[in-house]
Amino acid sequence: MEPLAEQIVSCPYCGEAIVVLIDHEEAGDQYIEDCQVCCRPITFSVSVDSAGHLSVSVRDENDAY
Ligand SMILES: [Zn+2]
Repeated sequence: MEPLAEQIVSCPYCGEAIVVLIDHEEAGDQYIEDCQVCCRPITFSVSVDSAGHLSVSVRDENDAY
């Protein structure tokens, strides 16, 4: 089993680097967390690539519209 993976993403609003911890159970999930710097809600999407590596992408909430 792969342990928690650490990823660094940038806030889509203010560009602040954010460290997130993800595990395989979260693959395919989306969750929303507020940026610690600008306090705006960031949508995190956890996915697994073909090599089995976890990755996280971030979106701002307005992408849904
Ligand atoms: Zn921010």
